[in-house]
Amino acid sequence: MSQLTVAKFGGTSVADAHAMERCAAILEQNPDTRLAVLSASSGVTNILVALASGEHQPDARATLLQQLTEIQQGILNSLEKPETLTRHIEDILVYIKELADSAAISPTHALHDEIVAQGELMSTRLFVELLRRRGTPAVWFDVRKVMRTDDKFSRATPDLARLQAEVEKELQPLFANELVVTQGFIGSAQDGRTTTLGRGGSDFSAALLGEALGAKAIQIWTDVPGIYTTDPRLVSEARPISEITFSEASEMATFGAKVLHPATLQPAVRQQIPVFVGSSKDPAAGGTWIRNHTNSQPLFRALALRRNQVLLTLTNQSMFQVHGFLAEVFGILAKHKISVDLITTSVISVSLTLDSGAESLTDEVRAELDKHCHLQVEENLTLVALIGNRMSEVNGVGTQVFKALSEINIRMICYGASAHNLCFLVPEDDANQVLNDLHTELLPS
Ligand code: ADP
Ligand code: ASP
Ligand code: MG
Repeated sequence: MSQLTVAKFGGTSVADAHAMERCAAILEQNPDTRLAVLSASSGVTNILVALASGEHQPDARATLLQQLTEIQQGILNSLEKPETLTRHIEDILVYIKELADSAAISPTHALHDEIVAQGELMSTRLFVELLRRRGTPAVWFDVRKVMRTDDKFSRATPDLARLQAEVEKELQPLFANELVVTQGFIGSAQDGRTTTLGRGGSDFSAALLGEALGAKAIQIWTDVPGIYTTDPRLVSEARPISEITFSEASEMATFGAKVLHPATLQPAVRQQIPVFVGSSKDPAAGGTWIRNHTNSQPLFRALALRRNQVLLTLTNQSMFQVHGFLAEVFGILAKHKISVDLITTSVISVSLTLDSGAESLTDEVRAELDKHCHLQVEENLTLVALIGNRMSEVNGVGTQVFKALSEINIRMICYGASAHNLCFLVPEDDANQVLNDLHTELLPS
């Protein structure tokens, strides 16, 4: 393991020059941090996604481009408009306009990623300039040289062996004299076209780079001082957790805690690299350390939620004592690459949840399933996950949870498959209340 730390700064952390100054100060105070991985400035990716959709009329497109220009110009103005960089950013803005015009005629997945990636390409250029102005030697690095992926645009999968080899060749030598600033979220396919790793993917990029470098720590700097007992925007009583295990934090991320991209901890776990989550607005406030072992392992640790879940119930009256029904059904879902989350079964039916939205149940999928069973699709549901330790081994967990939810119509419950979670589906409209009630009951301060 090297002595190097990787720091990732999210969208709000690099929203404007003022926010970027705080990130620069964090880096300057941590000389072991040799690699900074940046998101696009807050709001930029949303604008680029809208432009890439090609759905907008010329007027709406012009408004989006104007908003984008204002964000970039705001930062350039604070940097006193250095000539070369200003020209470079303006060229990128022209390039985005051309790509957006093409997307309006014929949007493609590849074009989408090329457009969306420009946000990270601009924020990193601006940040390097800001660091240099502060007297901190920094070099810009195009992560697409090392983050080689497949060509599943919008959801590309990095090639880990290639990443390791390219990092050693291309990135390692740069650390000797300067701080390296690179992009999260983006990569390149084997043929060189730009890809992206999925929304919120900069956390994952930082963790992958940390793994490839054998980093001693990965820092995720965001807008909250750590991982909270639940989303502080939804529950005012939520409070930061000082340390949490990889397993618990992974469950939180998987079940919707937006503070970490769901895949972030996989590389960290593989290499046992501790991950720190803190606020770039207030680094002195401390944060959360995610590690293999923690001093305390409470029964109830946190709550997370994931909206827009689809509940699919498949019923076959003749399923009773018949072999192979589940295999048939899952075979069809697998063939169409529909990934299933929670599952419960009864004698003649199986219920399962999909995170991919009802659109993934195309006419073709429905027709194939129809041959084997009756199909019921329910939408507007939210999955709530209670995360903790030894939950399947301790008496009375169910009683405590359901006491807090006596007024709610719970559509599905999954308990026991993991000692770290208890999940259930509730109507979308009840989700916030459920979260608050459970927090008061199970996670009192
Ligand atoms: P960044 O742009 O830095 O990646 P994100 O918006 O992706 O930041 O993630 C930070 C946000 O995650 C917080 O502002 C908070 O609203 C949300 N969040 C959801 N669940 C949690 C949680 N358990 N702890 C902290 N933040 C959470
Ligand atoms: N900029 C990308 C997004 O908004 C990636 C990230 O911020 O992690 O999804
Ligand atoms: Mg994020």
